[in-house]
Amino acid sequence: MNAAFEDVLKERGIPFLNGVPTAGLCTFRIGGPCKRLIRPRCAGELIAAVRAAKRCGEPYAVIGGGSNVLFCDGIEAVSLISTRGINGVTEVRPDAWRVGAGVLLPRLAHLVGRAGFDDMTFACGIPGTVGGGIVMNAGAHGKCLGPRIKSVLAYDPEHDELKTYFQKELNISYRKTIFQGNNEIVLDAVLTWAEPEDPTVIAARADALLAARRAAQPVSEPSAGSTFRRPSPEVPLGRIFDELGLKGLTRGGAAVSEKHAGFIVNKGGATAADVLALIGEIQTITQKERGFRPVPELCRIPEEV
Ligand SMILES: Cc1cc2nc3c(=O)[nH]c(=O)nc-3n(C[C@H](O)[C@H](O)[C@H](O)COP(=O)(O)OP(=O)(O)OC[C@H]3O[C@@H](n4cnc5c(N)ncnc54)[C@H](O)[C@@H]3O)c2cc1C
Repeated sequence: MNAAFEDVLKERGIPFLNGVPTAGLCTFRIGGPCKRLIRPRCAGELIAAVRAAKRCGEPYAVIGGGSNVLFCDGIEAVSLISTRGINGVTEVRPDAWRVGAGVLLPRLAHLVGRAGFDDMTFACGIPGTVGGGIVMNAGAHGKCLGPRIKSVLAYDPEHDELKTYFQKELNISYRKTIFQGNNEIVLDAVLTWAEPEDPTVIAARADALLAARRAAQPVSEPSAGSTFRRPSPEVPLGRIFDELGLKGLTRGGAAVSEKHAGFIVNKGGATAADVLALIGEIQTITQKERGFRPVPELCRIPEEV
């Protein structure tokens, strides 16, 4: 136990719990206890926790909705810092809102739709947060978060400083932004809306998108969404895996979904090792049969496993 780190959390009154099972913190429902789960209630508390973790040499990782992560061996040494308490939404202008990193995308889609803008409807079925969504440039139905971002406020732990990025500085591309690999933490963002629409029409559109998802994807089984990043937006990996006969391929408790071959699902009791073995098998088969090796989209915590 790192008393110095815990002392800072206690002094600052930042909520934390030791030994929290990570299976309950992710949509995959996989993972043993982390060292501790820290739940800052605002950006200031999150920065204080990260600053203290760095000063005390405490391994840490930031999580949002846990919908694109795989908690692996070594998680018992990691302090997880959740952004979910940073969940404010402030109207800057009717068509520009400052949104906290911990706001869930379906909730934001609902609020924006009710305000008469269609811009976030595409995200009504993406079970992540705004912060995780910005890191991953989350998208669906031909739209993504990138074009809606005016600016992002981030904390850079290496230099202990706050940074504001404007859209052009985010290096946005398919499921990518500057935040993948730079260790900075998204605190909030100003998002802008440009698609006014009747709220009733938007609500009906959201219902239709959710129904289409339920029909095509294994939404009732634990998963982390699409396992692999498409090599380019036009390459339908799910269809390719289907053609390769991968549906139902199983390693331990992990299986390629029978409903959508792009998803690995936890059939019950899957371990991270099962998922990683299945990922390796899919990569080997795809490399052999189609000449490319798909790259996982899901993020491992800790990373170096
Ligand atoms: C059923 C299902 C359907 C899905 N459908 C889609 C879809 O249609 N489109 C799509 O794009 N994705 C989809 N996903 C994947 C996932 O929801 C997205 O990638 C989402 O953006 C992840 O957000 P999160 O908050 O859950 O991030 P997490 O899973 O908590 O974290 C993902 C990564 O981002 C980092 N991170 C999280 N928050 C921050 C922050 N504030 N600052 C810095 N780093 C941070 C984490 O450290 C981790 O490396 C789906 C997932 C599931 C389970």
